[in-house]
Amino acid sequence: MTTQTKFPATVDVAIIGGGIIGVSTALALARAGVRCALFEKGALACEQSSRNWGWVRTLGRDLPEVPLALRANQLWRDIQDQVEVGYRRNGLVYLQENDSDAAEHESWLAKARAYGVEADMLGREAALRLLPSSSRAWTGALYSAADGVAEPQIATQGVAALARQAGALIYENCAVRGLETSAGRADTVITERGTLRAQAVLVAAGGWSRLFCGNLGVDFPQLKVRGSVLRTEPFDAGVSLAINGRDFTCRKRADGGYTVSQFSASLAELVPDSFRLMGKFLRTWIANNSLVKIRFSKRFFEELATPRRFPADRETPYERCRVLDPAPYARGIDQAWARLQHAFPVFQQARIAQSWGGYIDVTPDAMPVIAPVAAVPGLYLASGFSGHGFGIGPAVGETMAALIQGNAAPVDIRPFRLERYA
Ligand SMILES: Cc1cc2nc3c(=O)[nH]c(=O)nc-3n(C[C@H](O)[C@H](O)[C@H](O)COP(=O)(O)OP(=O)(O)OC[C@H]3O[C@@H](n4cnc5c(N)ncnc54)[C@H](O)[C@@H]3O)c2cc1C
Repeated sequence: MTTQTKFPATVDVAIIGGGIIGVSTALALARAGVRCALFEKGALACEQSSRNWGWVRTLGRDLPEVPLALRANQLWRDIQDQVEVGYRRNGLVYLQENDSDAAEHESWLAKARAYGVEADMLGREAALRLLPSSSRAWTGALYSAADGVAEPQIATQGVAALARQAGALIYENCAVRGLETSAGRADTVITERGTLRAQAVLVAAGGWSRLFCGNLGVDFPQLKVRGSVLRTEPFDAGVSLAINGRDFTCRKRADGGYTVSQFSASLAELVPDSFRLMGKFLRTWIANNSLVKIRFSKRFFEELATPRRFPADRETPYERCRVLDPAPYARGIDQAWARLQHAFPVFQQARIAQSWGGYIDVTPDAMPVIAPVAAVPGLYLASGFSGHGFGIGPAVGETMAALIQGNAAPVDIRPFRLERYA
């Protein structure tokens, strides 16, 4: 895929960040005839959007996100009809080991059904029929046949190809250093390769959104958690649906292997922002104590050395670190692998091909901001997806595009306002 090199002097909308959120918004805008330019400091999807598990799910979502998830299931299917993104509706299952798991799932499903989620509570026999190669005595499962996966290694590039065909301009290896305002309104984008004017600017910068907004005087409470994943070589375990076994997760890949991880393979590394934002995040840390392990690491000093305010006329942190590429947390993925092999002994014959890490951007309530920034007219923010933005990406793009054009959003976006953190 080639990347444009010359900028126009003006566009309608500039988008900062070439992950699934930025490119999905570019696609929706370009198809509506809006002139937009997207800037990515590294390569498209070089951070979260290529490193995730690939789940496209309604199951287990916070309820305000359910309408986005339902819409995204339709949009992924439409996108897959136009370009290969590896989208398949293979089903997703949340396994249960006891009555408390079942009660939690039952309670979620009762509420989610009101939004139109189609899922089933399976009893023991039905759950075991779904997973004949498992040796563990599951007591039941929450199952959605409509959920599925897309392939993170190709999906964002696929959506970007459609956006380009529709007229979006996409610039890779081009960091946005900052913005200028006129009469308080964001209107000039300063990149490392020149400037351009825009009527609206969307920050979809993943784990960098807090730094970017902070440099404009906008406080976006966001931290990063290090997730870790492995994939196997091609192998047939007789399982094609995605599985959440609580202490392991696994899903079939289009290349014939499996992506494996666990929710508790996540590390919250202490950084200066952990202390600045402690008041806002404390409740989430306590609630997720068993899943996320807090660690002190060299990341503290890396972030300490990163200026929080900096000028746009010289090299910025976005150019000094083109790609956040953390090492995987070996203990977390070793555990997930051992637990998967215990639950599905057939995996003892599989071989690990690769493991990787990725920083997940998180907010205090584990829900994203998808909204205009009230303090800076012309500025929009879509970030903080807290480990579940890939699956809803296309619907977020559609929603952002509607907001930026001044149209009614297809879903209720009130829960996603930035000002809820004020
Ligand atoms: C290990 C792991 C597992 C996950 N599993 C799932 C899953 O199964 N399902 C799911 O739905 N979600 C999952 N997620 C979450 C999902 O990947 C993210 O929510 C989603 O990809 C966020 O997309 P984004 O576009 O907001 O951010 P990103 O993909 O991080 O993209 C932001 C981009 O902005 C660029 N950028 C930043 N600053 C600048 C700048 N100043 N100028 C230019 N470019 C800039 C960055 O280089 C980056 O490419 C997982 C994440 C991880 C890490």
